[in-house]
Amino acid sequence: MSKLAICPGSFDPITNGHIDIVKRSLRIFDEVIVAVAVNLKKKPLFPIEKRVQLIEESLKGLEKVRVEAFNGLLVDYVKKKGGVAIVRGLRAVSDFEYEMQMALMNRRLDSDVETVFMMPSEEYSFLSSTMIKEIASFGGSVKGLVPEPVEKALKEIFNF
Ligand code: ADP
Repeated sequence: MSKLAICPGSFDPITNGHIDIVKRSLRIFDEVIVAVAVNLKKKPLFPIEKRVQLIEESLKGLEKVRVEAFNGLLVDYVKKKGGVAIVRGLRAVSDFEYEMQMALMNRRLDSDVETVFMMPSEEYSFLSSTMIKEIASFGGSVKGLVPEPVEKALKEIFNF
């Protein structure tokens, strides 16, 4: 049976670190859905439609990957899609505590859904969407850290 993984996140915006994790997921799973959270605690820089569009443009040519927006409980969404696992990226030890808490809570909510953690390439292990937005807001270069469509979108917002 074909195995589907869900890569959930805010993706505000997608970075090369996220793409690294999606590509690694495809080495293990047959299919991947990049699931973009509609409800964010913080107000996003990019609206949901734009976040989805930027991911689609950035992952163009990658087969077996779909991009979707999702609302509500992640485990319910995973179940509905027929996913076998949630894939999350672990950059540093600092990610661990929050990620473990979430993985165990999701297991409690639905014990059929496994969470799998993957480590990105070291060159992306310091990278976060928050840092990208901060650098771009001050006119710094984000080349090589985000895909081209994202770089372009940030340039339009911050005029650099
Ligand atoms: P969330 O708000 O759910 O943390 P993010 O878009 O920030 O959403 O992250 C989505 C997933 O991608 C998380 O598992 C996060 O750990 C992972 N991630 C984010 N940046 C990187 C990176 N540079 N390298 C590897 N994984 C990353």
